[in-house]
Amino acid sequence: MTDYLSSLNEPQRQAVMHGEGPLMIIAGAGSGKTRVLTFRIAHLIENGVDPFRILSLTFTNKAAAEMRHRIETSVGYEARNIWMGTFHSVFAKILRIEAKYLGYTSNFSIYDTDDSKSLLRSIIKEFNLDDKVYKANAVFNRISGAKNRLVSADDYLNNSIIQADDKAARMPEIGRLYKAYTVRCFQANAMDFDDLLFNTNVLFRDFPEVLYKYQHKFHYVMVDEFQDTNVSQYLITRKLSAVHQNICVVGDDAQSIYAFRGANIENILNFEKDFPAVRTIKLEQNYRSTQNIVNTANSVIARNKAQLRKEVFTENEEGTLIDVIKANSDNEEGRLVVTSIFEEKMQGSLRNNDFAILYRTNAQSRSFEEALRRLGIKYRIVGGLSFYQRKEIKDLLAYLRFIVNQQDEEAFKRIINLPKRGIGDTTVAKITVSAAENSVPIWDVVSNIHQYVSGRATVPIDKFAYLIKSFMLMIDQGKDAFEVATHVAKTSGILRELYEDKTVEGLSRYENVQELLNAIKEFVDNPENEDKTLGTFLQSVALLTNADEPDDDGDNDRVTLMTIHSAKGLEFKNVYVVGMEEDLFPSQMMLESRQDLEEERRLFYVAITRAEQKLTFSYAESRYQWGRLKMCEPSRFLLEVDQRFLNTTKATREMATRETQPAPMGFLKNITQKTAPSRAPVATHQPSEGFAPSDTSGLTEGQKVEHPKFGFGVVSKMDINGTDRKATVKFDAVGEKTLLLSFAKLRIV
Ligand code: ATP
Ligand code: MG
Repeated sequence: MTDYLSSLNEPQRQAVMHGEGPLMIIAGAGSGKTRVLTFRIAHLIENGVDPFRILSLTFTNKAAAEMRHRIETSVGYEARNIWMGTFHSVFAKILRIEAKYLGYTSNFSIYDTDDSKSLLRSIIKEFNLDDKVYKANAVFNRISGAKNRLVSADDYLNNSIIQADDKAARMPEIGRLYKAYTVRCFQANAMDFDDLLFNTNVLFRDFPEVLYKYQHKFHYVMVDEFQDTNVSQYLITRKLSAVHQNICVVGDDAQSIYAFRGANIENILNFEKDFPAVRTIKLEQNYRSTQNIVNTANSVIARNKAQLRKEVFTENEEGTLIDVIKANSDNEEGRLVVTSIFEEKMQGSLRNNDFAILYRTNAQSRSFEEALRRLGIKYRIVGGLSFYQRKEIKDLLAYLRFIVNQQDEEAFKRIINLPKRGIGDTTVAKITVSAAENSVPIWDVVSNIHQYVSGRATVPIDKFAYLIKSFMLMIDQGKDAFEVATHVAKTSGILRELYEDKTVEGLSRYENVQELLNAIKEFVDNPENEDKTLGTFLQSVALLTNADEPDDDGDNDRVTLMTIHSAKGLEFKNVYVVGMEEDLFPSQMMLESRQDLEEERRLFYVAITRAEQKLTFSYAESRYQWGRLKMCEPSRFLLEVDQRFLNTTKATREMATRETQPAPMGFLKNITQKTAPSRAPVATHQPSEGFAPSDTSGLTEGQKVEHPKFGFGVVSKMDINGTDRKATVKFDAVGEKTLLLSFAKLRIV
């Protein structure tokens, strides 16, 4: 038996060694699902399976790269030949090979969400619809939802239920917009993200010979994070494995957090119907986290009604209790969390890489970034406005896209007057509308502009067409991506314009473009990339997910800041789940139904289970939102946690000391006070002199109380549910509030 098999427990070993036939592993967080998948692939290759015949679908490209790397250490460079990546990247590759079946060419563009919305805005305008009713974002979401359910534009228009639904939503024209959008994408030889899956389904449905080819190519299909696949993704994998039946899916229903994007837990239930021969293996031992963390997670998820019951236990050490940090403002939350990171780092000789700060929404990162910078701690932000979303980067990429695909309407709109060459919006609109009306590609209009537009406006367009032709020639001559891109950056005038802008922002934009050129150079020099053309580079960039961002300098030891959604599948020694407040987490938008609230709770479960050794929750009592200071209450999730695992003394100590002296910062006091005057908390109430919290264990309805911020009020309702005690208090100044008694400071008057 090979070495690696000895580092597995019995059910894991069975899963790795399972031969032919469908296999499903639905198991709790940290129980080794991803590890099993990795070892299983290595095991197959060691037993003679050709890596070209293995298809493995992961959630991020980074996860795929890590998996490939691990497999490579046991089976060698052969691991490079595994078909491994995200659904989008793998099927984009297949669509390029088979493009002609669908009437596309293999150099099709991939529209990102900005491109899609910009195209929708043009169409909404052309249809003379009110853009306050038809918001591009809302229209895009509806179309995307339809595609993920495999509803085509024609199906959409013919479906009376959908039509009635759109009418009720006062957007009866969505079907027509969807149709026009589809036609325009096709004319532009472009697919959006959803199309990559939708069109793969069409390809496999309408061309059985193509399906046959891939069914016989891939002998083994593996899917990680199966709970987050949508209908469209599930159908693809089901079809691909229909012949050989060698499909292995791993997932955790308790971690399903993408229902809002069409992911469907039903897939897990359907799997047993679609593959009746399925062997199901349970993994119950968690290897990632301490007992306290595992038990905390179990106590949270037990509240969900919709779930498959399963046990999770660990033999790891008990570990420390879960700290709760309470701050008076979002800025203070940033400082307290970062101070805690600093202290933990010193005490536990940990590295920056061992820490993650997880939040519900990207916008929360600011206060942590400020505090980290102040203490000189390096960090990386995953997601948010990423490198490839910056304007100057998208501008140069748009040039490159248009050179590869001259039908790309969105790329065209971006570059036609960039740098400025005196081509006005009216002329641009004339060009796109002429192309649409005559059903010809944009490039046909641009390169024969005299047939469509007369007068002086044609001069700069002729020049533009000439410039683009000269770039296209380079591609025909077989120049690689770097040669073409550098030439384009210089000759188009993009670099010059940025170079002449001597402001700090201008300089950083110039550097960013240089950085993009560096990335292209790296791509060309990488021996793993056989195809060094611009088209291939563009594809790899278009499919980067938020979690795949490069670090901007060589130093990789950084604290990670990211949303909980992007933390799925990852692990860190020390995790801070921040912003634990009502309306923020659970999000205000997820409080309308039990299903939504349960999805938020699963998200909380994902957050908790990322931690290996130490977990901390934090919340602020006030924060700025949309420019206004808002009072916040601790999240209901904090109360749902079995209180035995929480250490709230930090919350209490901070609270108690703060009222008598400025925020205590331990030995960092001087640094923080000098450079960071805290934003004064807005006191709605001055607590009475000598305010001391009372013992509220015997609190009853009708009692008069004082709260340090909300002032005086009367208890109108008590809610005692196990260890969770809540009081609803009618305050004179701020109205009714429900308070969690283990957190709230109340003085019985
Ligand atoms: P998630 O649900 O969060 O995706 P997972 O089930 O995929 O988690 P893994 O990431 O595969 O879990 O494993 C969690 C951690 O436990 C990893 O660090 C992994 O190396 C370790 N691990 C898993 N199984 C074993 C084992 N038998 N012996 C030692 N360590 C293990
Ligand atoms: Mg995993």
